[in-house]
Amino acid sequence: MDELDVVLPVLDLVEKNPVARDAVRRLVSTRAGARLPFIHRALLGMRAFDLHDVDAERGEIGFGGVREVIFGAGWLKLFHKEIAAAIGDDAKDALLYRIATQGTTWEIQEVLKDMRWIPSALRDAIAERRLMESVRSDARLGRLFRHITREVSRLIITEGGWGNVVEYAFERDPIRVVMTETMEAKMLGAATKPTCVITAGGTAGYLIGLTGDRYDAREVRCVSVSGGSTCEFEVTRSA
Ligand SMILES: [Zn+2]
Repeated sequence: MDELDVVLPVLDLVEKNPVARDAVRRLVSTRAGARLPFIHRALLGMRAFDLHDVDAERGEIGFGGVREVIFGAGWLKLFHKEIAAAIGDDAKDALLYRIATQGTTWEIQEVLKDMRWIPSALRDAIAERRLMESVRSDARLGRLFRHITREVSRLIITEGGWGNVVEYAFERDPIRVVMTETMEAKMLGAATKPTCVITAGGTAGYLIGLTGDRYDAREVRCVSVSGGSTCEFEVTRSA
């Protein structure tokens, strides 16, 4: 019996059953639950803010070993507006995309220093740079990765105020990511081209950091352009 024999049935249960999910989250929130590995508490429904470390003396917050700063959503609009005014709109998009890609790649590099975010079942695949191949070919690892993409999206994207990831189809080529409530589109409003540039760059950067391969994300449908409720991204691995 290994980690997956215990973790997968619990994750399957809490995915489909809100009552069980609440009960498990309450258990994990107790002092006994605090002894569970960080990633297990994260996957089992703990809220992002309950998992943060606050060092009031140093004026720092950390999330699973990654230092963070929080700023108001209005900054997103200002990044777009002021950088476009300085260097032009297309160059602004390219610059913000590049910063976001490197920013989330940095987050993953910080994560990989102490592996708190990585379940032990996936550590070899990441170290040996075969994560995508492994989660696509091994049914149990695929099941685990599906739970991870759902719960880590909740913790980082939804509870980080960026929007809701409603689909993360990592088994497809290109990988398809669908979001609702995308904060970048909300702040930027109606536009003639997709506005979720930081969101797209960040999506690519997480995969680059985890796999060591080159990925590019393209927003193929954006609320700012098409209305409706979903922004959709295609993430392609480069040769
Ligand atoms: Zn969008």
